[in-house]
Amino acid sequence: MPFPVIALDSIPTHGLAVQVLDWARVGCGEGLGGECTSVSGHLEVSRKGRHIVVNGQLAGAATVICDRCGEPCHFSAAGAASCVYLPFDEIAATKVDEDSQEEALDHGEYDGVALDLVHVVREFFALERPARVLCADFDPAADAACLERFRSRADLSRDQPDPRFALLKGVKPTR
Ligand SMILES: [Zn+2]
Repeated sequence: MPFPVIALDSIPTHGLAVQVLDWARVGCGEGLGGECTSVSGHLEVSRKGRHIVVNGQLAGAATVICDRCGEPCHFSAAGAASCVYLPFDEIAATKVDEDSQEEALDHGEYDGVALDLVHVVREFFALERPARVLCADFDPAADAACLERFRSRADLSRDQPDPRFALLKGVKPTR
């Protein structure tokens, strides 16, 4: 199986140490929703029966588009990764128990045969990405400029009204 797909059977009992290198760029970019500019870290992959446990540290950055002003900005995220991957069939067979004692652990799923570490990286960075990306969140000094760009974009669209609205001006409401 080509790296970074890790077969369950290939994980030694003492675990597997994996350096986060260029193979993780795709997952980092997809998770953050932009073009990955850097990614690094290390992961410790071990198995507990059919469960694959992944622990480690990840750091990554990507060029993402500001949701307010539309300018590209530099977004970076870093932190501890810790997740237990369960086979699909086991999840399907598990009774739903909201108050389970394992709630503190992050759970993911895999096909029961092999875990793609790109998926692990993508999931980590997707959770780090805020619902709304603002360039000012990463650079407070950029807030005024971001707002200015947002306003000028809004003014621009006011000067050039959608031609469909012009047609409506001649329409009288009917009662
Ligand atoms: Zn902005």
